[in-house]
Amino acid sequence: MTGRFPRIAIIGAGIAGIACARRLASVGLQPKLFDKGRRPGGRLASREIGTADGQRFVDHGAQYFTARSAAFAEEVAALVQQNVLRPWSAQALVRSNDSRQVMPDDARFAGKPCMNAWPAQLARALDIQSETAIKALVPRGKRYSLRLEDGSLTQEFDAVVLAVPALQAANLLEIPAPDLAMSSGAARLAPCWAVWCALSSHPSPSFDALRVESDGPIAWVARQAGHPSDSEALWLVHASAAWSRAHLEDDEVEVTSSLVTALRTELEVYARPRWVRAHRWRHALVERALGTPCQWDAERRLGTCGDWHLGPRVELAWQSGHALAEEMLATLVAAR
Ligand SMILES: Cc1cc2nc3c(=O)[nH]c(=O)nc-3n(C[C@H](O)[C@H](O)[C@H](O)COP(=O)(O)OP(=O)(O)OC[C@H]3O[C@@H](n4cnc5c(N)ncnc54)[C@H](O)[C@@H]3O)c2cc1C
Repeated sequence: MTGRFPRIAIIGAGIAGIACARRLASVGLQPKLFDKGRRPGGRLASREIGTADGQRFVDHGAQYFTARSAAFAEEVAALVQQNVLRPWSAQALVRSNDSRQVMPDDARFAGKPCMNAWPAQLARALDIQSETAIKALVPRGKRYSLRLEDGSLTQEFDAVVLAVPALQAANLLEIPAPDLAMSSGAARLAPCWAVWCALSSHPSPSFDALRVESDGPIAWVARQAGHPSDSEALWLVHASAAWSRAHLEDDEVEVTSSLVTALRTELEVYARPRWVRAHRWRHALVERALGTPCQWDAERRLGTCGDWHLGPRVELAWQSGHALAEEMLATLVAAR
């Protein structure tokens, strides 16, 4: 590596991997990202679906995010200026048993026109290989190759970043770094069933989004803002962690039916669903975080980042990726 820039692989192009890559690229490094998904963004996920009014995008992962830290708020403000992000201005309530309250005040943001537009825009300046699942890290002296699904190996890299959910990171690190694998395995992510439901008539509840803090199947309900001419009222439901865990392997039809019933109760409407779709997130929201921004083993040049280091928020995933890049720069570039 002496005299040349280190070759860095980042596995996972969610917001943590992207934040890490952008910081490394800002000093002239050229990290290479690999992601198993069709598009970068990970849990900042939007899907294009056909409706009676044509194609439209719906978000089925994160619905909005906060920007409480100065560094992230600065990045977000610039992206709002560039029309890639927008303030999330939905009328949002929190229901706890029978009482409803306005969600506490906080600056909230979302992608424009959909959540995935934001990572897609950031990813444009990066070298990302999509639809490429990494199956193993293969040590080659002081370097690593990555094994792909078809058994082939990539070029060699001087350093590798795991920007994937905790369980996947632990699996990939088991051979080259069992200690990092063990520490990563201490984090825990809960699953989440997500269901979209297009209702045959437009209910008019007093909210656009509702967080439910009580026992029961639903944790979150949100109107998917569409075109005014939409003939369908489209709502998204996120099931609670406990309910999702208990029904994780259930048949999609049964899951959908239970969640649509709960949605209609929440909206106090009896409109029939015109169509429904479901998505099962196996690793959705962090339940137990490591409590440290990232892990970086300067000797083996292996690092991890992602929301599971600090907590279940987009902003914390971004902070984790950024923190890892800073640690890497302090040792990798100094070692040239
Ligand atoms: C249903 C749901 C609702 C949420 N709501 C909110 C919210 O309202 N507000 C908020 O702030 N946050 C919310 N979140 C959390 C937020 O989305 C995450 O904290 C954040 O997006 C995590 O980013 P990340 O980069 O750490 O991980 P991810 O986005 O999961 O990125 C990891 C990437 O790694 C890729 N990958 C995994 N394994 C491999 C492999 N072997 N090879 C190649 N690629 C691989 C995946 O395809 C993925 O793109 C929600 C999440 C979900 C699922």
